[in-house]
Amino acid sequence: MRRMFSSSMKNATLLGLDKHPPIDRSFFYASSCENAYQCRLESDARRRVQRGPTTPVTTIPVILCVDVEPDPRSVNRDTPEPLVGYELTQSYLRNLRPRIEAVTGSPVHYSWFLRIDAQMEPYGNATWIMDRYGAHLEEIQHAGDEIGVHPHAYRWLEDERSWLHDFGNQSWVDHCLTMSVEGFAKAFGRPCLSLRFGDRWMNTATLNLAERMGVRFDLTTEPGTLPYPTPMPGERASGPLPDYRRMPRIPYTPSPSNFLVAARRTQRSIRIVPLTSSYLRLGFHPRQYFWRVRENGFRGRRQNTPLYMWESWPAPNSFDRMIDRALGAQRRPYLALAIRTRKDISLAIGQRIDALLAHPLASRLRFCTPAEALAELERRQ
Ligand SMILES: [Zn+2]
Repeated sequence: MRRMFSSSMKNATLLGLDKHPPIDRSFFYASSCENAYQCRLESDARRRVQRGPTTPVTTIPVILCVDVEPDPRSVNRDTPEPLVGYELTQSYLRNLRPRIEAVTGSPVHYSWFLRIDAQMEPYGNATWIMDRYGAHLEEIQHAGDEIGVHPHAYRWLEDERSWLHDFGNQSWVDHCLTMSVEGFAKAFGRPCLSLRFGDRWMNTATLNLAERMGVRFDLTTEPGTLPYPTPMPGERASGPLPDYRRMPRIPYTPSPSNFLVAARRTQRSIRIVPLTSSYLRLGFHPRQYFWRVRENGFRGRRQNTPLYMWESWPAPNSFDRMIDRALGAQRRPYLALAIRTRKDISLAIGQRIDALLAHPLASRLRFCTPAEALAELERRQ
């Protein structure tokens, strides 16, 4: 940590940031007038997406991850709740598909991640979602969507009649991942390629196991997030969440000894695709800018706030501007956004979807699978 800090400080010194704290210039543009803000759009996101008149028009891959899971976080083990949220999310995304296609002019491929773990066993068996919702899974596969797994590390404590996030118990975590990936392979008759571990939790041993089991794309990580002791207040966990402040913000091949560091050699088959983070406008608070650089590193300073679709994002950090900033921070822009199935899906994410489809670059968005997104990004190298 000290080494990273001193390295970051060294970079800051080289760039003169120790004398002049990093200033978010969008603050000045945005606070002067709307036209100036449009200039920023062109000078940042658009410049990076389309480099000069001789460059072919580039597209922006969008991976929309959908975690398919029970409505409550703590499933009632005696009488598990029906997946009403999933059923409503099915129809919401079914109706949304042609709308996105009309804006982007391209087919839409979502990425669905199914719960197959101990918390699904009260429904009858861990692969209950696949047994119960076969028709929908057929429909989305026919549409070209990706299907992966979304295991949580919940373990039932019989004595206490409650669920524990057993992150500190590697053999239990391995059991959950194995149940998930093998359950997927058995139900679909093909290997599982995509993974989103529950509650953004991951560690190196689990990622390495996922690779050995054939997983090729991990979409768990959320750059900029802190190592909280539990996923949600009031819940119990046997280990903290990972510290994602200093991780890469672009798809990368992870090191076998530390999944949060990009490997120098790229012979590994698994890729980590970080979800998209952006940054908040902080106003005239140089100390806060300094802290942001110190915590996230100079490279990560403009992608430290996850773009959660269910948050309201009031001005000056409205969702469309957060997208601008995220795109402007990337050399090869992409978006990876995640939602969960829920009863109020339209209310929860509708305004963010509207903002995305009204964005000046919306016609360049391509809603695609992780494999398609990486193929497109690697083609631009
Ligand atoms: Zn989940």
